[in-house]
Amino acid sequence: MLRPPFMAKLTVNDLNLQGKRVFTRVDYNVPMEKTGSAMVINDDTRIRATLPTLIALIEKGARIVLASHLGRPKGERVASMSLRPVADKLAELLGQPVAFADDCVGEIAQVAINNLQNGEMLLLENVRYHSCEEANGSDFAEQLAANVDVFVNDAFGAAHRAHASTAGIAEVITARGGQCAAGLLMERELQFLGEELDAPDKPFVVILGGAKVSDKIKVIDRLIEKADTILIGGAMAYTFKLALGKSVGNSLVEPDKVDIAQAALDKAAERGVEFLLPNDNLISQMNDGAWANPVLNSAEDIPDGREGVDIGPATAARYAEAITGAKTILWNGPMGIFEDARFAKGTMAVAVAVAAATGAGAVSIIGGGDSVKALNQNGLAGQVTFMSTGGGASLEFLEGNELPGVAALSEK
Ligand code: AMP
Repeated sequence: MLRPPFMAKLTVNDLNLQGKRVFTRVDYNVPMEKTGSAMVINDDTRIRATLPTLIALIEKGARIVLASHLGRPKGERVASMSLRPVADKLAELLGQPVAFADDCVGEIAQVAINNLQNGEMLLLENVRYHSCEEANGSDFAEQLAANVDVFVNDAFGAAHRAHASTAGIAEVITARGGQCAAGLLMERELQFLGEELDAPDKPFVVILGGAKVSDKIKVIDRLIEKADTILIGGAMAYTFKLALGKSVGNSLVEPDKVDIAQAALDKAAERGVEFLLPNDNLISQMNDGAWANPVLNSAEDIPDGREGVDIGPATAARYAEAITGAKTILWNGPMGIFEDARFAKGTMAVAVAVAAATGAGAVSIIGGGDSVKALNQNGLAGQVTFMSTGGGASLEFLEGNELPGVAALSEK
């Protein structure tokens, strides 16, 4: 369902939370690795991202009940998907104890919540240990809401799912006259992916890359209505090239998506949107499971047997020029197979251009996933305006969809 124009949601800053029990949905779906008999967190970015909200809740004297999913245990108690290591990590980051409850509902949760004093914090066990979480069972949502007063959602990355801990609980709390607010991370996501992009300062330049046209066509379609310039890279460029009758060799393409690619090109032309495709590429070929003979191909066509793996330097320079002078930039998806350093130059050139334009006053919004990884790899993460923490959620929001976890929050 399409979402209405940007509407400000209640945030934790609007609430008086002294002594209130606040069920706070966070996204602690962090990568972990088994080391000896313990699970060790590889990357704590998602935990750190919630600290501003948690500090605000502590300062307001809330009794904080944190809930999250981790992995896909499918309703079973899978030991390797326990959130217990996250409670320890959080305690270390905050410098205060974080209690842990072995279940997110029932007596175990109730006792743990009753033990909380103002400003204290508790992490509940993985909500997906119960199959009713993903099924958004109303009984389960009632159980999650049983011992709390207020709902705060700071899990933008899970907001595109109508689950019990993201949407169902909000309905229960709203129905009994309680408040449901965005956390500070969620607020920033809505501000940048919603408010800023609903009415972007012009020129608005959109850069889209990655593997598939089919994943992003709805985003392209919607953004053609707002953007001045759209720059396409990654494998998805080759489906557009195919639509234009070019040869793409063995490049990753979606031949069945040529029609929708052509429709996007036509719509851009009708609206006078500049729609740029690569005019040179790095090409390579797979030999025995490894990329071999990478060379620059400066022709519009890619020779048989070769795959486009990155945009070439002429394209990178054209794209960088288009990015310079933008007032608003949205970037989602790499320009090539950037995981291989030999094919990362195009993505890096875009990252550098986006950072430079931001330094010159543009608002730059990075739509999550691999573009965030590329900026981190190049030490440029601090030089863009906003990096989304959502992957699938960001794309759905950029498509203009109503996210259940956002729709369920109270309006200001
Ligand atoms: P996405 O999740 O759709 O943003 O796609 C990201 C993936 O697209 C990365 O893993 C890249 O390696 C891949 N990718 C980018 N360009 C190409 C290309 N030219 N050929 C194959 N894969 C690509």
